[in-house]
Amino acid sequence: MVALTIWNEYRHEREHDAVGEVYPDGIHATIAGALESDPERDLEIRTATLDEPDHGLPPDVLEKTDVLCWWGHEAHDEVADEVVARVQERVLEGMGLIVLHSAHFSKPFKRLMGTSCDLQYREDGGRERLWVVDPGHPIADGVAESFDLPRTEMYGEPFDVPEPDRLVFVSWFEGGEVFRSGCCYRRGKGRIFYFRPGHETYPIYEDENVGRVLRNAVDWASPTEGSPRTFGKRD
Ligand code: ZN
Repeated sequence: MVALTIWNEYRHEREHDAVGEVYPDGIHATIAGALESDPERDLEIRTATLDEPDHGLPPDVLEKTDVLCWWGHEAHDEVADEVVARVQERVLEGMGLIVLHSAHFSKPFKRLMGTSCDLQYREDGGRERLWVVDPGHPIADGVAESFDLPRTEMYGEPFDVPEPDRLVFVSWFEGGEVFRSGCCYRRGKGRIFYFRPGHETYPIYEDENVGRVLRNAVDWASPTEGSPRTFGKRD
């Protein structure tokens, strides 16, 4: 059993009709649906949103979360630093973190990366092709050598993140740009996966390939028992 918490800012869906039509119950609900759809995975899914007390992430929730999935865009600055510190601490202790699309600018991701996490973008609804560049990686399990998303927002390099430990996907865009779309990191005992797809005006989290990658990513990011982390003076 893996305890998964799906965190969503949940503002665009309520404030913009065009987004509400694509994600009527919120992006978090659609992602939950994609993850629940696999009977082979034993997931306990909860969702949390920005406007709940503690953003839905009080200490007891984070304590029992094995993998946290994060989507945010317009209100990164409203996330309390106290909650960011808690997320960082839990990652160092071993909690997995899946960072989606515009959450490249989220406070937890920026803190864990230590760089600007900036990139180029163009909201043109063009086509994206994601290529698997690490075919043996567990996150690519069962994924074709490439797959297309017909309408997306473009993200282009340079993507100002540390060199990933493993790079699983590279995207090509109709405008000619490329982007490192699936980046794996370790911080402390925790595993972090950044996955690019997911602009709020396109039904990207309903895509079958994206769903498969997310399910694989939850498996990969799930904590393993490991060995205790012991620091400080020894007697
Ligand atoms: Zn976007």
